[in-house]
Amino acid sequence: MKASQFFISTLKEAPADAEITSHRLMMRAGLIKRLAAGIYTYMPMGLRVIRKVENIIREEMNRAGGIEMLMPVIQPADLWQETRRYDTMGPELMRVRDRHDKEFVVQPTSEEVVTDIARQELRSYKQLPKNFYHIQTKFRDERRPRFGIMRGREFTMKDAYSFDRSPEAAAVSYQRMYDAYCAIFNRLGLDYRAVRADTGAIGGDLSHEFQVIADTGEDALVYCPQSDYAANIELAEALPLLDARAAPTQALALTPTPGASTCADVAAFLKLPLQQTLKSLVLACDIPADEAAGTPARAQVVLLLLRGDHDMNEVKVGKLPGFEHGWRFAHLREIEAVFGSQPGYLGPVFAGGRPAGLRVIADRTVALMSDWVCGGNQVDTHYTGVNWGRDLPEPDLVADIRNVVEGDRSPDGAGLLAIQRGIEVGHVFYLGTKYAKAMNATFLDETGKPALMEMGCYGIGVTRLLGASIEQRHDARGIRWPVAMAPFSVVLCPIGMDRSEPVAQAAQQLYQQLLEAGVDVILDDRGERPGAMFADWELIGVPLRVVLSDRGLKEGQLEMQGRSDEEAVKIGADAALDAIL
Ligand code: ATP
Ligand code: MG
Ligand code: MG
Ligand code: MG
Repeated sequence: MKASQFFISTLKEAPADAEITSHRLMMRAGLIKRLAAGIYTYMPMGLRVIRKVENIIREEMNRAGGIEMLMPVIQPADLWQETRRYDTMGPELMRVRDRHDKEFVVQPTSEEVVTDIARQELRSYKQLPKNFYHIQTKFRDERRPRFGIMRGREFTMKDAYSFDRSPEAAAVSYQRMYDAYCAIFNRLGLDYRAVRADTGAIGGDLSHEFQVIADTGEDALVYCPQSDYAANIELAEALPLLDARAAPTQALALTPTPGASTCADVAAFLKLPLQQTLKSLVLACDIPADEAAGTPARAQVVLLLLRGDHDMNEVKVGKLPGFEHGWRFAHLREIEAVFGSQPGYLGPVFAGGRPAGLRVIADRTVALMSDWVCGGNQVDTHYTGVNWGRDLPEPDLVADIRNVVEGDRSPDGAGLLAIQRGIEVGHVFYLGTKYAKAMNATFLDETGKPALMEMGCYGIGVTRLLGASIEQRHDARGIRWPVAMAPFSVVLCPIGMDRSEPVAQAAQQLYQQLLEAGVDVILDDRGERPGAMFADWELIGVPLRVVLSDRGLKEGQLEMQGRSDEEAVKIGADAALDAIL
């Protein structure tokens, strides 16, 4: 590729809404361009990275026995009614109508369609196992799209679905996918951890998330350094999340009357045992995106004592650092550091003087609170009409992991638990017969009797992987792609190509040789000044730069520098090809 025939568009500054490094760098390097909230164009440079990721995924999926197909983006609502997900998915599911007023959905995932295919096509045990996959556009109307394509509304996912004749056979399919995922993330050069994930209504423990380790990750992971125990402690996403805009179905009215609303009321509502909730309480301040982007918000977190039966008048106000923009999680320990060793007040967040939401997560427990009417630290002015949420988990689910904090003994007894943050880039899930049952997907077994298919589903966030990689691989100058993901693996930077015939000739020649050798090379023939040219490629993150200059060529030399190298090395012009390959 020649730069003059390609499209390169870099920025000095990232837009203000880009909160984290990967989003900033993707915007600055011109990999993506925002069209609407959570909806991005994959620009030519970004698309090259996406294609490389897709190809690695495709190779490993094929190697593991996956069969590629392509299911439609727009899917009939009828199918989604069969599994009831048309209702249970809530506002994340994008619904559209055609000209005949027929209802459709924009696929957030494809269990329904693939199960529909399986029940028509897979009739006999002789046709099993099968694993179908596709790499396709998804749409989820995320409550808070952010971080660019990391949490987009439109994004690309690889999703695979296995069909087996028995739970034992399904476990083999599951393990095959698990291994394929390890192979994929290894090839992508990621530092990741496979953690046990929620299996929700299905139960069992055959669900793992692949989490790329990064402080900016939205998930919290517990693991035991002395063993292979690792789990996601935040199962919030597996529970029905509340939509802040939806009308509340249940509201706990905490009235301004002193003594009228005690933490016992709140605890009872949350179904949390009073004495035990404090230890694992995790807070996330959830300031709406438009507010976060605007004026610096003053965020206050008010915590309500859940331990003991305290009067709401004992409200304490404190400010947790870092809550000013957007949101983040704060572990109870941190809250304790601010509020003292007996924290325990839980209440509204004020962003820029206006009430915003506060999401409370006691590990698996999600209570989204919105529609704040009042609150704060004024005497007798506390909470009225606060929505603590609905669809709360059953108490035993809470009890299960309620108390997990750093330093606890790991469930396998091998050592103490540590906590780190992760970005979910992949998820493997044993589904059992959940979908087969709902959609009556059966096959004829050896005895000629119909039996329900055992299924698994396996997703990878193709576009999210770009952000996750950059979170781990960047420096002050820009992205540091691994060769496997880089838009180009080598850039040739001739200096003064338009003025110097020898430079132009040497550059052209080396360019041709590299092309013939199958190297993904780009020749920067734009005529940029060296400083600007180097800065562009460092920002874009091409792993290897080769500089050709008049002075160097007179000595028969070129300069070569890896993206992570401190300095360039000189190589003989004749040996350049070998050195690069
Ligand atoms: P999350 O917890 O981040 O919302 P999820 O558990 O809802 O993800 P899955 O249904 O497991 O996602 O989908 C499989 C994969 O798709 C995820 O592991 C993730 O990598 C990717 N993914 C999910 N939602 C998004 C999104 N909004 N933007 C980009 N990638 C996504
Ligand atoms: Mg998740
Ligand atoms: Mg999700
Ligand atoms: Mg998931």
